[in-house]
Amino acid sequence: MLLLCSNDDGILAPGLVCLEQAARALGDVFVVAPDREQSATSHSLTLHHPLRPVQLSEHRWQVDGTPTDCVMLAIEALMPTRPDFVLSGVNHGPNMGEDVLYSGTVAAAMEGLALGIPAIAVSYAGRDFHTVGVSLDQYVEPLAKLFRHITALPAFPQHTLLNVNIPPIPAAEIKGVRLTRLGRRVFSDSIAKMKDPWGRPIYWIGGGSVTWSAGEGTDVDAVREGYVSITPLHLDITNEARLTDSESWWIAP
Ligand code: MN
Repeated sequence: MLLLCSNDDGILAPGLVCLEQAARALGDVFVVAPDREQSATSHSLTLHHPLRPVQLSEHRWQVDGTPTDCVMLAIEALMPTRPDFVLSGVNHGPNMGEDVLYSGTVAAAMEGLALGIPAIAVSYAGRDFHTVGVSLDQYVEPLAKLFRHITALPAFPQHTLLNVNIPPIPAAEIKGVRLTRLGRRVFSDSIAKMKDPWGRPIYWIGGGSVTWSAGEGTDVDAVREGYVSITPLHLDITNEARLTDSESWWIAP
C-alpha cells in the first residue's frame, strides 16, 4: 500500500512524525508537507506565485505552500504513482465542529478526496503538547491499528473523508471508537484589539475562550467521554431538503 502523509502544522511538527510512524505499519509512506505552520488556512490554494518543493530525502518533500498545495503537488507531480490513501495530521489541537471549516488538516484530506483518493484526517484534541509535555509516541500503535482496520474495510465510505479526533488522555485509557456527527463551537473574545508600535489599532484573531455545545452523538461528546471520535464528512454541503419552491423567487422584469 502506498500512503501520502501531510499536515498543516509544518514538516517539523511532532504530530507528523506520529502519523508517519503509524502509516509505516501499513506500507510505503511519502511525506509532502508545508515548510511552515499553515493551521487555519482551510482549503486555500496558492495561485499567485510558483511553488518550489524541496526534496529532503527519497520519500520526503517540503513545499512552500498550503496543505492543499502539498496534496495536489504530491499526487499530480511528486509521487511516482497515486497513493492508496491520504493521511493528514496528527494536528496539534482539536478539529471538531466548525473547526473542520477552517482546518488545514481536514483540508489536506479533502484535497485527497477531491482527487479521488480516500482520506483520513487525525487531530490530537488537547492543548498544544509542546507546552504540556505529552508524548505522541503512545498513540502510534493504536493509530496504526485503527488505520489497518479502516483501510481493510470492504468498502471505504464513498465520497467521504474520516475526521479523527484523539482524546487528550493516555492511550491506555482510551475507551474505544465512536462514529459521530459534528458538534458546535462558540468562540468568545476571540478578537484582541491591540496597538502597533506606532499606536495604531490592530486586531489579532485567536485566543479567547471556546465553548463547545456537545449534544449526544457529537465529536465533542465522544472526546469528552474518552473515546476516539470519527466523523464521516462529505464534501457536498448542499442542503438537499431545501431544493424546492424556487418558482416564486424570481420576478420576471
Ligand atoms: Mn494545525
